Amino acid sequence: MYDFERGKIRFIRGGKYPTCHSVFIDDEVRAVIDPASDEGKLLAIHCQRPIQVIINSHCHEDHFLFNSRFPDADLWVSRLEAAGFRDIDDFFDQFYESGDVDEETRAAWDTFFTEVVQYQPREPDRLLEDGEDLVFGETRARVLHTPGHSPGHLAFHFPEERALYLADLDLVKFGPYYGDKGSSIDDTIASLRRVAAIDVDVYLVAHGKEGVLDGDPAHIQRYLDVIYAREERLLALLASGPKNLDEITAAGIIYGGRSLADGAWELTLSERVMMGKHLQRLEGLGTVRQEDGLYHLVES
Ligand SMILES: [Zn+2]
Repeated sequence: MYDFERGKIRFIRGGKYPTCHSVFIDDEVRAVIDPASDEGKLLAIHCQRPIQVIINSHCHEDHFLFNSRFPDADLWVSRLEAAGFRDIDDFFDQFYESGDVDEETRAAWDTFFTEVVQYQPREPDRLLEDGEDLVFGETRARVLHTPGHSPGHLAFHFPEERALYLADLDLVKFGPYYGDKGSSIDDTIASLRRVAAIDVDVYLVAHGKEGVLDGDPAHIQRYLDVIYAREERLLALLASGPKNLDEITAAGIIYGGRSLADGAWELTLSERVMMGKHLQRLEGLGTVRQEDGLYHLVES
């Protein structure tokens, strides 16, 4: 039934997008973090004894996919991302500037979110903040505000069980995703450094085949290094001459130039937004300067 157990924590694997792995806390208060893994298993657990609380690490569809199956449970979410749970326009608003998305794309999203994700607006019952302790019975989780992937992204530290659920700081080989309007590379780096300093035996993450890794901070360092490797490739590209954002996007530094839709998302748009964030960061560091839409390497 479970893919990992420690104390009263149970790990339930999901599969491909739009699912993710879930953490089920089988304590006095039964709770599921990110109920988007295996609908059948989650409902079977709920049938035995109701799940009273559902928690979302952040407001992305592949984390709240099955929220609607638990209408009577309390919903706990990050204070900073509550709006996206209340209203679908606020939900979409977190991803891109309105001018970035044409009507056709927006219509495709509406269909996907109504039919596949079954988005239902919902008022959260508790707004979570950094440093809060969530008590489920014997099991206690400390809320860690770990922004970067999304502005209100949360991780959960279970000190007794020596486990850390990192959600979408997911430690996959691909590296971190920071392709939304509110994503931040610098925050991603700071959050990863913060969680790397926590001494645990096991990391649980929301994606990847296993989703369970031993608590070796080297896993986090490797993931962090992907950010710097992308940056190195961008600098090498600019070393061959100034480029505009279209040309940089077409180079496919992150996605290898694949123009594929992944669920509702067009990866070219993610590539563009993420490259834009790298350029912004490099401009801040004084390594790159922009003139008339062209990005130049600053000779040192
Ligand atoms: Zn996410």
